[in-house]
Amino acid sequence: MQLKEVLIKNGFHFNKRFGQNFLTDTNLLRSIVDKAGITEKDVVVEIGVGGGTLTRVIAEKAKRVIGFEIDRNLEPVLKETLAGLNNVEIIFKDVMKMPTEEIESMIGGRFSVVANLPYYITTPILMKFIEESDKVDGITVTVQEEVADRLCAKAGSSEYGAITASVDAVGNADKIMRIDRKMFYPAPNVDSAVVKITMIKDKYPIENLSAYKAGVRCAFLSRRKTLVNNLMMAFKTDRKTAEQIVLAVKGDVLVRGETLTTEDFVSLQKEILNRGLKF
Ligand code: SAM
Repeated sequence: MQLKEVLIKNGFHFNKRFGQNFLTDTNLLRSIVDKAGITEKDVVVEIGVGGGTLTRVIAEKAKRVIGFEIDRNLEPVLKETLAGLNNVEIIFKDVMKMPTEEIESMIGGRFSVVANLPYYITTPILMKFIEESDKVDGITVTVQEEVADRLCAKAGSSEYGAITASVDAVGNADKIMRIDRKMFYPAPNVDSAVVKITMIKDKYPIENLSAYKAGVRCAFLSRRKTLVNNLMMAFKTDRKTAEQIVLAVKGDVLVRGETLTTEDFVSLQKEILNRGLKF
């Protein structure tokens, strides 16, 4: 039976609040899971199981799938669509309310994340798995195309932002596929894309991730202001100190934060720590 029929049969009503736009095309889903590089050795966390179409395809390839779903109304639907699979566990909880250590201890080892993310909390979910866990090997997510472009942007481009620098600090992000809005049920107002983030241990010598993040936040505080002005505002420093920091990081006091590369943010982090700035 097709997912649409199962949803209707169970009287399911889409809840816009939860970003429910489902993917039903099995060939497309197989292609996503193939590109994610999932094999029978992998434990996969899926966030937002929905009608279970992606879950089923992941389960065919992976060792084990742990799926989170906020909407309990999907329980009878999933009973049908995931019938016969013995390597899938569904947890009906808001993934953002579940401590990351609890997820890690349920899994008991390394894992990958594969998800067609609910649009309203794309960034917090990504940050949760990128910054709060060192057990993640890779993250393959379907997101709005605009977000995909931000995740994979080059320093200095209009798409470049705090999220780009946060992700690049710990891994490599690649846009691996575009998905037309017509492929979703119901269709959203924008197209999507799949981004694969491969985590790289010790990619940069970051001593203190909180200091690194404070530097990134500061650089994008106001895009129209120079980095010197943003530093003065974010860290309450005097102009002279801010200028010395920017000279050490970039060699030009007039630069704007959005031109800083990940290497520059690593140097900025060092300056923040060495000068004892409060973050
Ligand atoms: N994976 C399915 C697919 O590809 O068709 C559904 C994807 S849909 C874009 C996002 C799903 O995430 C919805 O089923 C929604 O109910 C669920 N969701 C939204 N917020 C959530 C949260 N905080 N925790 C867990 N699931 C959530």
